[in-house]
Amino acid sequence: MSDFEVCQIPCLQDNYGYLIHHPKSGQTACIDTPETQPILTALQTRGWDLTYIWNTHHHHDHAGNNEEIKAQTGCTIIGPAGEADKIPAIDKAVDDGDAITLGDMLVQIFNVGGHTLGHIAYYIPEAHLAFVGDSLFALGCGRIFEGTPQQMWQSLQKLNALPDGTKIYCAHEYTQANATFAITIEPDNIDLQKRVQAISEARTQGQPTIPTEIALERATNPFLRPHSAAIRAHLNMTAASDVEVFAAIRRQKDNF
Ligand code: ZN
Ligand code: FE
Repeated sequence: MSDFEVCQIPCLQDNYGYLIHHPKSGQTACIDTPETQPILTALQTRGWDLTYIWNTHHHHDHAGNNEEIKAQTGCTIIGPAGEADKIPAIDKAVDDGDAITLGDMLVQIFNVGGHTLGHIAYYIPEAHLAFVGDSLFALGCGRIFEGTPQQMWQSLQKLNALPDGTKIYCAHEYTQANATFAITIEPDNIDLQKRVQAISEARTQGQPTIPTEIALERATNPFLRPHSAAIRAHLNMTAASDVEVFAAIRRQKDNF
């Protein structure tokens, strides 16, 4: 069992920034830079020095404070090769199949393009977690701004292939709204019904619903379930391919 700590930092309206700290090496990474001050405060409170920023994609609520945080901490910025020209102050570009480290922990890079073309995720097998930005959300997935439904579907398959028990740290608290939509797509899914209830209770008490866990997403997230006979029947798409069903669900969500 590896030794690490994750710190989850509410930022802006509904973003989460994250720190992951590896005590043995003293290294710390900050996943995305939605805001400067809450992140610097979290570092100071814990007495952690920032080693890295790891960006998931180029949007302003993910890379917008790179320069400020780098100037304050002297950290090294790692980000997606496919959009390196849009990542402020990037030092090192990585893409699908690359590996980096935090101390002696291996960090695998997946390209999960679709929301943006070059979007990447950071998977740490021995920590049983992945930082996925705006690709997979709890009960949802990112809007397809730059890629195609086909590309987004393939990207989500990489995350769907992670082992049961993998914690998914996505970048937004969108779960309540996603739940309201998901239940219209698969109303008879009992696991989903239970989850919708649990989410309402958590949000009423002001608790985060993130991280989520990949097996729970497999069982309840409509965007990972285009194979579901119930969903297909509901959409009148019994003969369609998985990607066609996925695209139809995404279109419905865009207009929900
Ligand atoms: Zn985004
Ligand atoms: Fe975002």
